[in-house]
Amino acid sequence: MVDQIVQVKGLTKEFPNTVAVDQISFDVSRGEFFGFVGPNGAGKTTTINMICTLIKPTQGTAVVAGFDVKTHPDQVRRSIGLVFQDTTLDERLTAWENLEFHAVIYHIPKSIRKKRIDEVMELVELKNHRDDIINTFSGGMKRRLEVARGLLHSPKVLFLDEPTIGLDPQTRSRIWDYLDRLRQEKDITIFLTTHYLDEAENCDHVSIIDQGKIIALDTPDNLKASTGLDVIHLKTSDNQKIKRELEEKYDLPVSINQGELRFEKENAESFLPIVAADFKTRIKSIGIRRPTLDDVFLNLTGREIREDDLPLRKGMSKIAARAKGKR
Ligand code: ADP
Repeated sequence: MVDQIVQVKGLTKEFPNTVAVDQISFDVSRGEFFGFVGPNGAGKTTTINMICTLIKPTQGTAVVAGFDVKTHPDQVRRSIGLVFQDTTLDERLTAWENLEFHAVIYHIPKSIRKKRIDEVMELVELKNHRDDIINTFSGGMKRRLEVARGLLHSPKVLFLDEPTIGLDPQTRSRIWDYLDRLRQEKDITIFLTTHYLDEAENCDHVSIIDQGKIIALDTPDNLKASTGLDVIHLKTSDNQKIKRELEEKYDLPVSINQGELRFEKENAESFLPIVAADFKTRIKSIGIRRPTLDDVFLNLTGREIREDDLPLRKGMSKIAARAKGKR
């Protein structure tokens, strides 16, 4: 039995004007929850599409459950389940009919079809809606049904491309509950793409992709520890002005996020009194927290993950500069 259920080596996809995916390599272990994260346009969907045999790589190899996507695409397809960003359900059919159609396509024997459909509908709590037409479903219900459909033929790897995009926070967290349960109850590997880095906190490994290249791959804890920094966040009387002053005074990049100023510093505890003394009453509140995966991305690239249109930050941290140098 192969321990690495997905093996990717030098995978590259060139479109006429873009190198969407540029020589990426990584392995995914059997049974793990693997997060493939990065900003919009980073190359996540293109990568998933190559691994799932939907588009052909320009270069490199991807092997899924022991089958090469180039030479054994049918075997790869039988080994995987896919949940796309856009719904691919037939809106005119009922939930049950959609799943039955999928079961037929995947040659699930008639004798076990009903049991399997019941089982996956139960998992995503849609059994009571089995005979409802899809166009009466909310976005969250559709996504849940698609997760159920992706599991119907008992795939070895379930690929989810931005499964929670466009969903409200409550539905997002419900989808996460199902995925967690799935991971605990079934012998399945989950490969997820997302640009919500908080969602990747629970993954076993996280690979960060930016501009077609993998810039980090580790456990969430190791990635956060690798920054070696704490985050100082402050509320102030004038964010723009104090941001400029902080940057000039301490020679470090400061960002504004959700009405707060934020910057990173080693030994933040001993630095707080200095900032408090320098800015006095202009600071309304000040605190320290451990870095998140968003901070890791910021450190590696000098950009916020969801503010890609912003120009590169004025100064980049040492870690960002080091990471860039390594590439
Ligand atoms: P992500 O999923 O991370 O948002 P994508 O894989 O969709 O990123 O896109 C990566 C890059 O490749 C983007 O610059 C995108 O515009 C480009 N791209 C994706 N698909 C095509 C295509 N079919 N033709 C040309 N360019 C494409």
